[in-house]
Amino acid sequence: MGRPVVLTDHGGTVNASPTPRSGSGTAETVTLTTGRRAAYLVVLVVIPILLLLLAVPAVWGWGIGPRDLVIAVVMYLVSIFGIAIGYHRLFTHRAFRCRRPLRIALMLAGGMAVEGPVSLWAAEHRRHHKYADREGDPHSPWRHGDDGWALLRGMAHAHVGWLCTARLRSSRRHWVPDLLADPDVRRFDAAYPAVVVLSFALPAAAGGLWSMSWEGAWSALFWGGLVRYAVVHHVTWSVNSIAHTFGERPFLTRDRSSNVWWVAMLTLGEGWHNWHHVEPACARHGVLKGQLDPSARLIRWFERAGWAYAVRWPDPARLNARLNARLNAHLDARRADPR
Ligand SMILES: [Zn+2]
Ligand SMILES: [Zn+2]
Repeated sequence: MGRPVVLTDHGGTVNASPTPRSGSGTAETVTLTTGRRAAYLVVLVVIPILLLLLAVPAVWGWGIGPRDLVIAVVMYLVSIFGIAIGYHRLFTHRAFRCRRPLRIALMLAGGMAVEGPVSLWAAEHRRHHKYADREGDPHSPWRHGDDGWALLRGMAHAHVGWLCTARLRSSRRHWVPDLLADPDVRRFDAAYPAVVVLSFALPAAAGGLWSMSWEGAWSALFWGGLVRYAVVHHVTWSVNSIAHTFGERPFLTRDRSSNVWWVAMLTLGEGWHNWHHVEPACARHGVLKGQLDPSARLIRWFERAGWAYAVRWPDPARLNARLNARLNAHLDARRADPR
């Protein structure tokens, strides 16, 4: 017998009771239509993988010139900062507040990553935090088990599998009513297809104008638009797969969030994922010595310029208390089993 369907919400139907309800009275997930799932499969899984496969012989055969490299790196930085600072720390977790032009600029920068409208991204991510690595988490690598093959399957699921196999997606009405009430977010979400076009048109225009040739436009579209979007996707998804599986866990959390330095460098700070699950609303993820967090650095610069305010920086006393909690748990375990 199917689940009772009671409402519609942003292109899907709402399940009456797929996952526990909360106080807001709306269901947490909506059923994805077959068409929507097929679109996710093509745009989020198949095309990026094909592009990455295509990029290898392209580099091997023709190489990437300095012009395309500069355009691709700039687009990469804009996309990743847009996701890390805009979509994630500002809109999903409200780690700081900022002036309207900066908010809109950060939302647009996040849109360049082609990872969906900000409200949908935030809804999935808030659900991830509530159920991290437990039943209900949209993308836990541990869902199939802890041993070799099961973990490998789980990592593939956490990386891209969930994007095309999930039959349910997080209901925006339930998870992000604050964003749905924001006219700027609503306008951005409605204009999202145009934002995607911009994500490819900008590098093409930059390449065309720089070289004053169509050939320059096409090659910048390939490297700065298509290959860059594929790389950005897999770098972002590695936080869900790698930084919930490998790496160090200096803080005690209910989940398996961890710190992986190379993921942190590629994601401009997001790979310091363990503290982030302790205090999701904290503007800094790399809180320990030597943990470089370029996204937090940029937020600090915005704060100094007067563009960002009410920034939630880590509280040293709370940080130490959480570190000591981990240490005490470790000592207790050693006392209980001195072998
Ligand atoms: Zn996580
Ligand atoms: Zn988060």
